[in-house]
Amino acid sequence: MDSAPSTAHRAFTPSEAFTALKTFRPSGRGPWAGVPDSDWNDWRWQLRNRVTTVEQLTRFLPTLTPEERAGAILAGQSKLALAITPHFFTLIDPTDPLCPIRRQVVPRLEETHQAPWEMSDPCGEDSHSPVPGLVHRYPDRVLFLVTDRCASYCRYCTRSRLVSNASGYDFHPEFDRQIAYIADHPEIRDVLLSGGDPLLFNDEKLEYLLTRLRAIPHIEFLRIGTRIPIFLPQRITPELCAMLRQFHPLFVSVHTNHPTELTTEVRDALGRLADAGIQLGNQSVLLGHVNDTPEIMTALVQKLLLCRVRPYYLYQCDLISGSAHLRASVARGLEIMEALRGHTTGYAVPQYVIDAPGGGGKVPVNPDYVLARQPGRVLIRNFEGRIFEYPDGDHPRIAKPDTHRVSFDRD
Ligand code: SF4
Repeated sequence: MDSAPSTAHRAFTPSEAFTALKTFRPSGRGPWAGVPDSDWNDWRWQLRNRVTTVEQLTRFLPTLTPEERAGAILAGQSKLALAITPHFFTLIDPTDPLCPIRRQVVPRLEETHQAPWEMSDPCGEDSHSPVPGLVHRYPDRVLFLVTDRCASYCRYCTRSRLVSNASGYDFHPEFDRQIAYIADHPEIRDVLLSGGDPLLFNDEKLEYLLTRLRAIPHIEFLRIGTRIPIFLPQRITPELCAMLRQFHPLFVSVHTNHPTELTTEVRDALGRLADAGIQLGNQSVLLGHVNDTPEIMTALVQKLLLCRVRPYYLYQCDLISGSAHLRASVARGLEIMEALRGHTTGYAVPQYVIDAPGGGGKVPVNPDYVLARQPGRVLIRNFEGRIFEYPDGDHPRIAKPDTHRVSFDRD
């Protein structure tokens, strides 16, 4: 069966706005125009000069709204601090209160509003922590929260209960117990370093941490979750890349939400990681007025491939307290997935997931392509809305030769 194409399908013609979104541009210097290159390109200078106060926000962002001003004042007293690197700050359009970069990092008063279904630990990580800072949710892998610091703070952060507490430690106080737990559990073959942001450690500390993990014989695979290449591309130095390449197989998951974040500096930083043999994936969070349209998300995923990064997950925004103003609906997410699948390179299509509230883990969410399943046939539709019938059914299984059975019997 092959029906006529759906009228929903349209040939894609890039608009001027789409082409602009996909264009790589340098970050510019904004309020730091007089800063010498040697400072600007130094990641420690970037960290020292982050925007962290209401006064700085007011000075650098003359269009600061009353809601943002109130949010920034409260951020100084509440759980998630205000911090924005100069590099990332220059990507904000100061004339646009709905600027997608601004919405991610400038606090708003709405963060103090809590919907009844919102939580401080929406993924139930604390209830799956055998040792503080270690989350053992899935059978063969652990999430290792190695620091509470980030270069900038995302206003929708799932771990806002943990990050930015400025506790002043480098490794977690329970570091030795965390390593001992991993060493004592041979079923753990995969460690994801996150936080906070592991790439905020200096090279020596990070090398020590990776060396300790690589010394555990059953650890096959290391991953680092980081937003540093996006917030602080200056940190991705040739020395860091040379150090990281000793620890393969090593994957790095970056976190990018909007194509404007992919500047020439970010593209080059990601290229350095890729040149070091590191597999790069991207995780995006679906955010209202940030990336909740097919056009923006298509530009983002295509631009990520140009940066040698495979789009990996698109997350429905977790039910973190005070994030309702940033959330987009599941219907929007499905519309975006529908616009991606088949319409662009398969490698560019991330898996859309909802982290089940309370600790159920990631659940894939997809548009419905299987229309019906009946004995002997499956009815499917393609990305154009055309309907096809696939004859279904198992063939009789082939018995194993006796020799194989003997060896299994001995086991
Ligand atoms: S970089 Fe990650 S851990 Fe840090 S604030 Fe953003 S989402 Fe949270």
